Amino acid sequence: MRIDIITCLPRLLDSPFNDSILKRAQEKGIVTVAVHDLRNHATDRHRTTDDYAFGGGAGMVMMIEPIHRCISSLQSERTYDEIIYMSPDGELLTQSIANQLSLNQNLIFLCGHYKGVDERVREHLVTREISIGDYVLSGGELAAAVLADSIIRLLPGVLSDETSALTDSFQDGVLAPEVYTRPSDYNGWKVPDVLLAGNSAHIEDWKYENALKRTKKRRPGLLEGD
Ligand code: SAH
Repeated sequence: MRIDIITCLPRLLDSPFNDSILKRAQEKGIVTVAVHDLRNHATDRHRTTDDYAFGGGAGMVMMIEPIHRCISSLQSERTYDEIIYMSPDGELLTQSIANQLSLNQNLIFLCGHYKGVDERVREHLVTREISIGDYVLSGGELAAAVLADSIIRLLPGVLSDETSALTDSFQDGVLAPEVYTRPSDYNGWKVPDVLLAGNSAHIEDWKYENALKRTKKRRPGLLEGD
């Protein structure tokens, strides 16, 4: 898979992709993440990528031309499955959207800033708009990193234990059960006996029951298919 991220602040994306699982996924050649500085596609000598809003009002608007030039240059190299604009009014990111996007080959994520992008970018250039939650961030970079992480960890070979992503919360419409590690007794706070007894059938039953219990308590809507 290949993910191209378009941003006017590329440095914001340095660290999320240079550590741990996302770094290893790139080193293993499972995913290529390429970050593109929008300013390299500006047309004036100040490398301007934003301008005042027509009609007035506070806040700058990201111009269509540099964005169009950047997207076109990427499209001249390969075909993209989706061109996704990160936006607080987009469809809310869920596990099922991450699952679906993980089946694609080439994705573009466009990060907004300031007041967002010129509406014509949304009308004519992007194919999908995704929000990571009902709150407003100052830019799309952190949202793009969240979206990329949720997708990349699902790609075969990224997580060392192949089944691990499948047993996470939301995959089966339930939350993950509680987990423990050593010591089995910390200041009298004990790990449930069943996890220490070594009977794998009992452990699986316990995990299933606790996943259900936790889901009923914390996110009952999931069991009703919300
Ligand atoms: N004026 C816009 C907000 C702009 S915030 C509005 O009121 O809807 C600046 C940029 O941050 C956006 O263009 C978008 O790319 C990003 N962003 C902010 N909140 C986000 C969220 N919840 N999910 C995804 N991207 C977000």
